[in-house]
Amino acid sequence: MFEKFEHANLSELHFHADESTQLKSIIAIHSTLRGPALGGCRCVEYASEDEAINDVVRLAKGMSYKAALANVPQGGGKAVIIKPPEIENRNALYQSFGKFVDGLGGRYITAVDSGSHLSDMDQVQQVTSYVSGCTSDGFDPSPLTALGVFCGIQAALQHRRGNNSLQGIRVAIQGLGNVGFALAELLHKAGATLIVCDINKAKQRLCEQKFGAISVPPEDIYQVPCDVFSPCGLGAILNDQTIPHLQCEYIAGSANNQLLAPNHGEILHQRGILYAPDYVINAGGLIQVSLGLNHIAQADILKKTTDIGKTLRQIFERSDKDNISTHTIADQLAEDILQVKH
Ligand code: NAD
Repeated sequence: MFEKFEHANLSELHFHADESTQLKSIIAIHSTLRGPALGGCRCVEYASEDEAINDVVRLAKGMSYKAALANVPQGGGKAVIIKPPEIENRNALYQSFGKFVDGLGGRYITAVDSGSHLSDMDQVQQVTSYVSGCTSDGFDPSPLTALGVFCGIQAALQHRRGNNSLQGIRVAIQGLGNVGFALAELLHKAGATLIVCDINKAKQRLCEQKFGAISVPPEDIYQVPCDVFSPCGLGAILNDQTIPHLQCEYIAGSANNQLLAPNHGEILHQRGILYAPDYVINAGGLIQVSLGLNHIAQADILKKTTDIGKTLRQIFERSDKDNISTHTIADQLAEDILQVKH
């Protein structure tokens, strides 16, 4: 276990079980150097406890890097709830989780993530103030995450094509959840052509009807000819099996931990595919929940989110100049801010 700590430079790992509410939860705090650790709570099924630990540790580290490059006053942390096959009482489950968060005394602040909803955070809020992004506070992170990804796609186009117009640009979106669907709407309004997939057929149909999108089966999304591939569903989808099939020039999406391993970022670089590092492009939601909590005006939050495009442009330019992959540049920038020893 301590090897995992050392490998991820983690500072705390907390476990909590409450049989009466089916809660089995893990909170990882990567760093509180720049402020309380802030990161969402993922509620998904895991094949094993080890898989849940690895997921939360990796995600917490990503949150530290994300907060550093977005320049928000937070450290990095993340929580997982190991989803039981049938949740008997969802409100009780999230209130129990809220008490777990509260017990950490504010070193970790929670928010929504995959499998959790704003209404779940309302339950958390009943027992702790260490939460941001409920139905009542107006800090829903997903629309701002989608906006940040949209600006990131524009930044990538500007970098390579010299203009950021989305007119006729073909974007393949994997996953039409909170972020993917909102992104589809922004792209459609800007004139992009959409190719979409989701394991939920109803979401695909809605996207076809509302945005004239073309649906493909989920397994086909990797080989669809397109300009931009936008992963907005799962992690680890850029790997040895998928990369050889990609027919895109850019990868820019909201999913966390898109690269299965760092070498996959190198392979993309060698193939000439411009990869927008995930924790840079998907920082809009963090900007919303962090700055919302710190009473910053919404106009400033929007401005900071659109500035994600500027950060990405700097990373792309350095990547070209030094012939180093974009994910390596992003890591170096974040590690300088976090004073990570090499
Ligand atoms: P979500 O759970 O609302 O949406 C995910 C979607 O992906 C769902 O519609 C699901 O059916 C679909 N999906 C699952 N497996 C799939 C597959 N094999 N092929 C195609 N589609 C599949 O989640 P979200 O909030 O939209 O977040 C999407 C991703 O972005 C996640 O990786 C999340 O961690 C990351 N992210 C989200 C936010 C945010 O503000 N919501 C912020 C930063 C990062």
